[in-house]
Amino acid sequence: MRILIAEDDAISRMILKRAVERLGHECLTAADGAEAWETYLGNPDVDVVISDWMMPELDGPALCEKVRNYTGRRDGYPFFIFLTALGDKDHLLEGMQAGADDYLSKPLDREQLGVRLLAAERVTSLHRQLNSQNKELERLNFEIFKQARRDPLTKLGNRLRLREDMETLRARVERYGHSYCAVLCDVDYFKLYNDTYGHLKGDEVLQEVASVVVQSFRTGDTSYRYGGEEFLIILPEQSLETATVAAERLRRMVEDQKIPHQPTPYGIVTVSCGLAQLSAGENKSVEELLKEADAALYEAKENGRNRVAIHDLRPKTNGEHPELGMPDPETPGIA
Ligand code: GH3
Ligand code: MG
Ligand code: MG
Ligand code: MG
Repeated sequence: MRILIAEDDAISRMILKRAVERLGHECLTAADGAEAWETYLGNPDVDVVISDWMMPELDGPALCEKVRNYTGRRDGYPFFIFLTALGDKDHLLEGMQAGADDYLSKPLDREQLGVRLLAAERVTSLHRQLNSQNKELERLNFEIFKQARRDPLTKLGNRLRLREDMETLRARVERYGHSYCAVLCDVDYFKLYNDTYGHLKGDEVLQEVASVVVQSFRTGDTSYRYGGEEFLIILPEQSLETATVAAERLRRMVEDQKIPHQPTPYGIVTVSCGLAQLSAGENKSVEELLKEADAALYEAKENGRNRVAIHDLRPKTNGEHPELGMPDPETPGIA
């Protein structure tokens, strides 16, 4: 163990140090309470403090109280032993109340010291074990916390994560009057994909689309698996224009993967996106916003799929935004 000795009398200090070292422990020494406290702070791995009662600067009980009340990082539980002269014994209860675990009488008896240190070793190792178990539990808890908020197939956030993020976002919108956009993205003809290529292949497509979702939006934008083959992307502090560009980039990147999907009009896997915005000062709930995005998505599907549709701008764009250069070779006459 690592043992800190606080003793102002040089000879006693040396005798104690030698005895402790003979018992196979490592020793740090301090000539008064204040120095002992400094040494204690500088050595988070000190297992035992053996402290004299009367010392200049900081006496034993005061040192003990500081040690007990210290909330900074330590490797384990510090076992505190008082060294008491006969006269100090009247104060022993006070010392134990200050947080000491045991006491040793002066003059020093080596056997007594050995016995006390055996008990100290048992207590400190138990505490160290508990500490490491606690750390492991904390780590596992955090891992479970993360897993509970992640979709296992795509590694995107799940509904729980979305709900929590939306609470945070709502608070930010209320406080700072920020606006944000929601993009709902749905894989086209996906049931047909499963039927044609099998469910496992379908899972792979979902993973690929998810990775395109992550790539095509800026970091800081949050993506979620919203349903089976539906993804939701929340874009904080973005205008409808920039969000539309981002959604269109996603649509095109999925198209560029050229994943075969023979029975469809495009012959490849495509996605449709519905977009809606919550503007600053607007009194709209998240649910309403998502409903709008869903309505826009429906519009994109109705108008031939593989496109981005925008809520509220629908009369202007009809699912086809000329400035965005939406391709639509196959589906003429979009109303
Ligand atoms: P639309 O173009 O109108 O969106 O048609 P769709 O076939 O994509 O839509 P529909 O809602 O009819 O079908 C969705 C399909 O997604 C049905 C379901 O089996 C499939 N699906 C949902 N979750 C998963 C999944 O985790 N893995 C796989 N492989 N398929 C899934
Ligand atoms: Mg003294
Ligand atoms: Mg769907
Ligand atoms: Mg679909």
